[in-house]
Amino acid sequence: MTIDLHRLALATIDAAADELDLDGWVRALLHQPERSIAVQIPYLGDDGEIRVVPGYRVAHSTARGPAKGGTRFHPGVTGEEVAGLATLMSVKTAVVDLPLGGGKGGVTVDPKQLSETELESLTRSYTRAIAGTIGPHIDVPAPDVNTGQRHMDWMADEYSRVVGAPSPAVVTGKSIAAGGSLGRDTATAAGCRTVILASARRMGLPSDARVVVQGFGNAGANLARMLAADGMRVVGVSDSRGGVHDPAGLDVNAVARTKAEHGSVTAHPGEVVTPEGLLGLDCDILVPAALEGAIDAEAAETVQARLVAEAANGPCTAEADVVLSDRGIAVVPDVLASAGGVTVSCFEWQQNLHGERWSAAEVSRQLEQRMCGALEDLWQAAEQRGLPLRTAATVLGVQRIAEAVGARAHARTSALVS
Ligand code: GLU
Repeated sequence: MTIDLHRLALATIDAAADELDLDGWVRALLHQPERSIAVQIPYLGDDGEIRVVPGYRVAHSTARGPAKGGTRFHPGVTGEEVAGLATLMSVKTAVVDLPLGGGKGGVTVDPKQLSETELESLTRSYTRAIAGTIGPHIDVPAPDVNTGQRHMDWMADEYSRVVGAPSPAVVTGKSIAAGGSLGRDTATAAGCRTVILASARRMGLPSDARVVVQGFGNAGANLARMLAADGMRVVGVSDSRGGVHDPAGLDVNAVARTKAEHGSVTAHPGEVVTPEGLLGLDCDILVPAALEGAIDAEAAETVQARLVAEAANGPCTAEADVVLSDRGIAVVPDVLASAGGVTVSCFEWQQNLHGERWSAAEVSRQLEQRMCGALEDLWQAAEQRGLPLRTAATVLGVQRIAEAVGARAHARTSALVS
């Protein structure tokens, strides 16, 4: 994976810091994670051999609450990438105004090569390795690329064994039986859907707008299904092998069945397109829902959509961002468009801490309220300051973090002098 992500995160923070005229020491704090560890993770292979892979956990900021962010299993994971993603999480939780900071974790491994028992051994070993730096009031992991409910159940169980007490609030994204929240599995898609519908209305896009979704994992597939149910036309979708295009609109449920049966959306009837070709399809709304760096400057030149909603973390490179903004294409940035997952994670954490269970309707009501409120704040900040949405979002987030950092530093200094 690209190391550009950290550079991108710091560049957006700097742009926001300039706009806010932040003190040098606050910038310096935001540039470095508060805490970061690199660990070696031994795990048992099915052949009886022990293997060792590297892993990371980074808490970028706890100024607004415990660090919060996912755990990815991917062969391209590096410490640099995890630090960049953790930085984005601090901004993301602040943009949605959650009482949380930002963190991220990762393991450099290709999980597709591992059996279920190997995955469990790896996940439990990773949890033991980072157990000293996570905790319900310190740093709360969650799912990310290639991890889901079962990984989170293993992490919660292993951590509870280490500390000798049931601690479901240590991770979110668990199964319902293990203390997960209703609606967490589809939360990223649901949050992105709310943002897309509200932005499309604001921009005067038709209610049957044509949508292209890049990435058909948890976020992409659920989002495509939801938008189709809303009456939008999903004209193209893709996965890591390529894409399929139908200008009349795809039957998204049928595409999902094809992927389940044949392993890729490209087996579905329709015109097969390359991953690059997909980004340039004629449409109104483009949703990158795969990995970071998916849209570079060259691809950005080909985008025909009027609205790009970043369901993935960091899908546009810094250069692509400039091209899209110059071409007048509105980009609802990742720190808001992909914030549905961490928002319902926050609800899960709150339920665990208070021993509550919210109904699915309550979760979705509160999610919609949060996302709409944050989007409204964002459009307003962008208009008032005359900034593109991404910079405006970072300004909003960084301002809130800086206020928390400033208030705490002030309390500490006055404690010293009194
Ligand atoms: N991995 C998701 C994200 O990047 C969710 C994080 C969480 O729920 O804490 O936002």
